[in-house]
Amino acid sequence: MQSPLEAPTAATNPKSVKVNISSGAGMDIEWADGHVSHYPFVYLRDACPCAMCEEERGKTGRHPGDPAVSPPGGLVIFKPKAKPLSAEGVGRYAIKFSWNDNHDLGIYSWKFLREVCPCERCKQARPAD
Ligand SMILES: [Zn+2]
Ligand SMILES: [Zn+2]
Repeated sequence: MQSPLEAPTAATNPKSVKVNISSGAGMDIEWADGHVSHYPFVYLRDACPCAMCEEERGKTGRHPGDPAVSPPGGLVIFKPKAKPLSAEGVGRYAIKFSWNDNHDLGIYSWKFLREVCPCERCKQARPAD
């Protein structure tokens, strides 16, 4: 998946990763460059990088992590709050989650997670198109 040209840099290399499944508090990553990211689980679920979710987001122009909006006049479908049942490392470059809606296709690379960091500083730095 990851080409040798994209070897982890300090910005995409986590120093510590905490997945707070039992408390439901989301995931915390401290990066080797000192940046700290906090990802609520709902955000991570909405940022799922698998092809299916990518396509779904593409249809409505959502960015990874943007909540799904129901179409105007559409039914609001009840969805239980996204929460992983388990999380596991994928090699040294990624993490994957088994979500409570039976979805587990997304491989969240560290690089991707750094790109979608929801903190104010990173949000400002991303193009808002
Ligand atoms: Zn997905
Ligand atoms: Zn950030």
